[in-house]
Amino acid sequence: MIITDTHTHLYSDAFDVDREEMIQRAIDAGVSRFFIPAIDSTHTGHMLELKRNFPDHMFLMSGLHPTSVKDNYKEELLHVEQQLSQNKYYAIGEIGIDLYWDRSTLTIQQDAFRQQIKWAKSYKLPIVIHCREAFDEVFAILEEEKGDDLFGLFHCFTGTLEQAQQAISYNMKLGIGGVVTFKNGKIDKFLKEIDLKHIVLETDSPYLAPTPYRGKRNESVYILKVVEKLSDIYQVSEEDIAAITTQNSKAIFGI
Ligand SMILES: [Zn+2]
Repeated sequence: MIITDTHTHLYSDAFDVDREEMIQRAIDAGVSRFFIPAIDSTHTGHMLELKRNFPDHMFLMSGLHPTSVKDNYKEELLHVEQQLSQNKYYAIGEIGIDLYWDRSTLTIQQDAFRQQIKWAKSYKLPIVIHCREAFDEVFAILEEEKGDDLFGLFHCFTGTLEQAQQAISYNMKLGIGGVVTFKNGKIDKFLKEIDLKHIVLETDSPYLAPTPYRGKRNESVYILKVVEKLSDIYQVSEEDIAAITTQNSKAIFGI
C-alpha cells in the first residue's frame, strides 16, 4: 500500500524532537510520499534540508501562505519567484485567502494569490489552495483565472457539497484529512456524492489530528485513520482508497 500525504508541514518545530523517527515510522507503514507546502521564506532552508535527508520521499512546494501576506509581501513573493527558478518544486502552495485571522489584508492577499497563480501557469505547476472563511473571494479569482492551464487542489477542504462541486469545476481536487473523522466535521455527510477520482489525502500535520488523536500533535502515520474513514464512507477497501488517492496525487503533481 502506498499512501500519499499531499499536505504536511514536516519542517515544523513540533517535530524537532523526533522528526527522523516519525517520518521513518510513516514510511514503514506505507505513507511514503510527502508533499510539503511552503509558508514563507523563513522555512525554505528547512524544507530543502528535508529533501536532502529523504530525497525519494519529499516533494516540495514554493509559495507564500495567505496569513504571511503582510507589508513585506512583495519581498516574500520575490523569494518565491527566485526559488521557482533555482530549485525543483512540484506545486505553488500553499496560497489563497484567509479571512479568519485577518480581514484587513484582503486586498494584498488577493494580489499575492493572483500573482502566484500566474507563476503556476507559466511553470505548468498545480496550485495548492488554502481557503479559510473565504470561499467567495477564492472562487472569484478562480473564475477570472480558470482554464486548462489552471489546476490543483483545495487543501483541507471543509466546504459544502455545492462548494465542492464548484471547486472541482475549476480542475481542483479536494484534500481530505482529519476533519472527515470529526463528529461535527460535516464533510463526511456528503462526501459519498463526490467521486473518489476528485479526492486526495492529507494530514496537514502537525495540525488537525484525526479522531482518536484529535487535539494532539498530528503525525504522518495518523493518515491511516483518514484512509479507514474513507473506506467506510465509500465502501471500498483501504487498499483501493490508498491506490486511487495516490493515483490522483500523481495526476496533480506529475510525480
Ligand atoms: Zn498547511
